[in-house]
Amino acid sequence: MSSINGKVAVVTGAASGIGREIAFELSRAGAQVAVADINLEGANRVAGEIAQAGGRAMGVAMDVTDEAAVEAGTAQVVAELGPVDILISNAGIQIVNPIESYDYAAWKKMLAIHLDGAFLTTRAVLPGMYAPGDDGRSRGGTVIYMGSVHSHQASKLKSAYVTAKHGLLGLSRTLAKEGGDRGVRSHVVCPGFVRTPLVDRQIPEQSKELGISEEEVVRNVMLGQTVDGIFTTVEDVARTVRFLCEFPSAALTGQSIIVSHGWHMQ
Ligand code: NAD
Repeated sequence: MSSINGKVAVVTGAASGIGREIAFELSRAGAQVAVADINLEGANRVAGEIAQAGGRAMGVAMDVTDEAAVEAGTAQVVAELGPVDILISNAGIQIVNPIESYDYAAWKKMLAIHLDGAFLTTRAVLPGMYAPGDDGRSRGGTVIYMGSVHSHQASKLKSAYVTAKHGLLGLSRTLAKEGGDRGVRSHVVCPGFVRTPLVDRQIPEQSKELGISEEEVVRNVMLGQTVDGIFTTVEDVARTVRFLCEFPSAALTGQSIIVSHGWHMQ
């Protein structure tokens, strides 16, 4: 039986793409999953699909940039499922533009979703993780931030995204230190390109900005530096997240794990 069987997990941005698959994977390991998303209809749909597959899940409305919404959504999860053991801070968007024409409002929106969202959701779940369990010691927990290869290197047109994804390394490492003696572990999972709606939207946008064909965007820009020219999959990322959640000790904490077909090696 998985070590996360019965644990309570919140996955943000889980109505679509990578987050959706993580919600399914944690549920398959026996976790009770809160599918949190700004898109409540989508979150409820995914929670329903998980329930149909035999898991326990709930949809919860949560705009991760809204302090009150994060607090209220987390309180709803705690009331229905119990204190949160696992947080997967995954919600994210992409806006591509060169720096000289990058709209300031778009820049702030990018940092708000990726960084403010990571901070606010972390702060909301920590009291439950730090609270004493039955044995009097802190209950502990695992926090995983969805980074990217762009947590480690840059690409043209992605200033805000690269800045935000690098920033997550700082938050994760700080949490690993602050939470270490209370059983809280923290990681950043860093995928290469995964075919989700977020990436599908970028292909025509990058083709236009870079003046190359869509096929060249995929072959040269997205997969050009992988070892095998293959996209990372949502399953690859979800399996990695599950492994980190199941890992039994802080021998693994404060790490960034790159899942990218060798695009980035460290
Ligand atoms: P996606 O567009 O399929 O899903 C993103 C989800 O986030 C959507 O359900 C959306 O409604 C939700 N969301 C957006 N803004 C939100 C907000 N303010 N509050 C709550 N939810 C919000 O995207 P994806 O590709 O699955 O991306 C998920 C994460 O993975 C992102 O953080 C992204 O940066 C990261 N990532 C993606 C790739 C990739 O190639 N797809 C690669 C590396 C990292």
